[in-house]
Amino acid sequence: MRSFWEHESWLTYDVVIIGGGIIGVNTAIECATRHPEWRVLLLERNLLPTGASTRNAGFACMGSLSEIASDIDLMGSDAARNLVQQRLDGLTLLRERCSGYDVGYTEDGGSEIFLEDHPSLSRLEEVNDLLAPIFGCAAFTQRNDLIAAYGLSPSVTTLMFTPFEGTLHSGKLIAALWDLASRVGVHIRTGAEVVTMRETHTSVELNVRTAYQDILVTAGQTVVATNAMIPSLVPATTLPEILPGRGQVVITKPLTNLKLKGSFHADEGYYYFRSVGNRVLLGGGRNLDFEGERTTSHQTTEHIQLVLENMLRSVILPNHPELEIEHRWAGTMAFTATKQPYVGNVSPRCVVAFGCNGMGVAISSNVAVQCANVLMC
Ligand SMILES: Cc1cc2nc3c(=O)[nH]c(=O)nc-3n(C[C@H](O)[C@H](O)[C@H](O)COP(=O)(O)OP(=O)(O)OC[C@H]3O[C@@H](n4cnc5c(N)ncnc54)[C@H](O)[C@@H]3O)c2cc1C
Repeated sequence: MRSFWEHESWLTYDVVIIGGGIIGVNTAIECATRHPEWRVLLLERNLLPTGASTRNAGFACMGSLSEIASDIDLMGSDAARNLVQQRLDGLTLLRERCSGYDVGYTEDGGSEIFLEDHPSLSRLEEVNDLLAPIFGCAAFTQRNDLIAAYGLSPSVTTLMFTPFEGTLHSGKLIAALWDLASRVGVHIRTGAEVVTMRETHTSVELNVRTAYQDILVTAGQTVVATNAMIPSLVPATTLPEILPGRGQVVITKPLTNLKLKGSFHADEGYYYFRSVGNRVLLGGGRNLDFEGERTTSHQTTEHIQLVLENMLRSVILPNHPELEIEHRWAGTMAFTATKQPYVGNVSPRCVVAFGCNGMGVAISSNVAVQCANVLMC
């Protein structure tokens, strides 16, 4: 039973956001900043956010040549360009928002490497023309001179470079956003898993499970930003399809004389690697087992981990026989059939936001703006 005081001061909010990842915390900041009079609560089931946002690779990316060529085929030129614009707008907002924090942002550029000919290579001009209104110059340039300069294997035949890509420290980023959220008045509760929601004419009642007890929280409106876990709270019939996809990652111990700098994509984005100081992080391999990787489990698998290690040794760091893996982990992405993020009401008082399709760092602030716009209505 709640006391009157608990009910008034701790358990009743104008907006409750479920999920403390990059979409949830950005949405909370957006709401609290636009409406300082609102009581805004952010609920995270774990002690710290442990979704994709603190398990990703930290690329602040707009899409590689092959990814954008594939987007044009899937959604048409205008929608593909618009998606890049949304990522750029989101990143600009994120950088402004975090300008008072060290989130490790560096803009060393991004590269896509090819080990053989690929249809997207012949579409360089088409993609650059499409994106010229956004970047004001060619987004991608062939820079094969960088293959040796970065210490990559000579089996890499082509390197497409873009200066418009950066990297950051994902842990510092989310910590900064949580700090900012509390500074603008967002109430944050961790260890608070929402297990059920019930909507009435006047509010949404959230049953929140904590280690000690279950608590009922009342919200005027709610935002579900729990990534691929959304269907556990919201009936699937009210949602567009959400496909979970596990991403597996390794990071090396510090290396000496590392030449690699910036962020890299390979095999249509199924592999991604970057320098992190004098270490190298590599993730991917989902395409080796689409069925098996369609999961929200955070376990790594031996098969994909081995492929990642082999790629490090043979393609990325052929001159570093001493390399050792320091950490391995996995996280879950949420994919949509359209490859576009989804923001929308699933009922009068409940909004869902998901579907960054493996590229949430840049676009999520933009998704949060859309989310707050829907809430205002
Ligand atoms: C391995 C990997 C690498 C990636 N690399 C990149 C990259 O380099 N660049 C890029 O742009 N994107 C990358 N992504 C994608 C990016 O991380 C995601 O698009 C983004 O983090 C999604 O944010 P989110 O807020 O929707 O979800 P999440 O970060 O997953 O947040 C959801 C939160 O909800 C919480 N939660 C779940 N259920 C409940 C509940 N019932 N009650 C309360 N809380 C709950 C979870 O604990 C979690 O903290 C990568 C993803 C992965 C997995």
